[in-house]
Amino acid sequence: MSVGPGGESRGGAERALPPADELGAEALRLAAALLPLRRSLTGDGVRATLRLVGEQVPLETREVPSGTRVLDWTVPPEWRVGEAWIADASGRRLVDAADHPLHLLGYSTGVRARLSGAELQPHLHSLPERPHAIPARTSYWERRWGFCLADTVRRTIRDDALYEVVIDATHDEHGSLTYGEAVVPGTGDGEILVSTYTCHPGLANDGVSGIVVAALLGKYLPRGLLRHSVRLLFAPATIGAIAWLAFNEERLDRIAAGFVVSCAGDPGPLTLKRSRRGDTDADRAGALVVAARGGSIRPFEPWGTDERQFCSPGFDLPVVALTRTPHEALPEHHTSDDDLSLLRPEALAGSIGALAATIDVLDRNGRFLNLSPRGEPRLGDRGLYATLSAGDPAGGEEAGKALLWVLNLSDGRHTLLDVAERSGLSFDLVARAAETLVAHGLLRELDRGGAR
Ligand code: ZN
Repeated sequence: MSVGPGGESRGGAERALPPADELGAEALRLAAALLPLRRSLTGDGVRATLRLVGEQVPLETREVPSGTRVLDWTVPPEWRVGEAWIADASGRRLVDAADHPLHLLGYSTGVRARLSGAELQPHLHSLPERPHAIPARTSYWERRWGFCLADTVRRTIRDDALYEVVIDATHDEHGSLTYGEAVVPGTGDGEILVSTYTCHPGLANDGVSGIVVAALLGKYLPRGLLRHSVRLLFAPATIGAIAWLAFNEERLDRIAAGFVVSCAGDPGPLTLKRSRRGDTDADRAGALVVAARGGSIRPFEPWGTDERQFCSPGFDLPVVALTRTPHEALPEHHTSDDDLSLLRPEALAGSIGALAATIDVLDRNGRFLNLSPRGEPRLGDRGLYATLSAGDPAGGEEAGKALLWVLNLSDGRHTLLDVAERSGLSFDLVARAAETLVAHGLLRELDRGGAR
């Protein structure tokens, strides 16, 4: 068993990944292919996105008819969009959704009109404080039409001039919402959920990076080797997660841990946002891995992305959120400046690696029983004492301490995660100590990982 950055666990999932430079380059290529697709809550942009994901990992898609009640929500009509542009009197296009998917207000209604600049202005959205960027705006639940554009372009629009406006868009009450799931099968009943959202058009870090990280994780996770199955969910934010929860209420008790992944490709350090419960195995395993890689841990709060749904009180699932720089902390957030230049191959590969390492911790976690609990067992008789002396090449002082910690806390109540947290030793060292002690007949496995 090799040791990853920070000395934490590097188990079967992380070892199955390609070298970080290859993985990062592959992630960036997939991000570039996904970026131009016109995603939204519904529609062909989402389907095209899922087709690309499906080339990485076998995906099952589900179409949920518009109008379906899901929990307290109703699946919206499907948004179908064609061309969308504004042209001046000479026919020159000032704004064209073919140039950037953010140009069209998300869920905009259709329009064909000739308007004065003054009449056009209330339908325009720009960012005076970031004048060259196109803002990301949607109007999912209220019908209106609009365009998003750079403030520099908006300022060229004259109140008294005439403009031609075309938005070819319809809201189909007989359409559907599309989401996709992939399952990497494990040997036990427990599942680890990895969820990301598929609704953000034209945004590289907030949107595409999460899809890429989840897709490539699914591509490379070993099949049939881990105790947990890993379920990957690609769904539009909020309404997609709500629909999935509504259809899976009967089987949510299988979820041992969950991770909502987004904003996973910028160069900032990893950030783990805790679950509502705050102390679940997802929180604890995630915190061990993120801290070992120089990242930070934040408390739960009931806003953000789909952790809001998974951690709503009626579900209260063990689901945390994993990002690099948190959404609102990036100045490029929800603007066209969130483009491919924000993504770093090593950051994308690092996010995939951190998720795989966390899955490894969850998979190797377990409770054990010390079979010689009355006094310390004589480790010297079993050839284990050498590991206790400092500088020993067979493992060193830390490995010896790991043996003593595991023996001491293996009373049937404590898990290896408890041992790692309480000892401050790396999870990998603790897990290997348990394996050594089992091999020497000093420890018995009670339950592990996905064997729930
Ligand atoms: Zn967002």
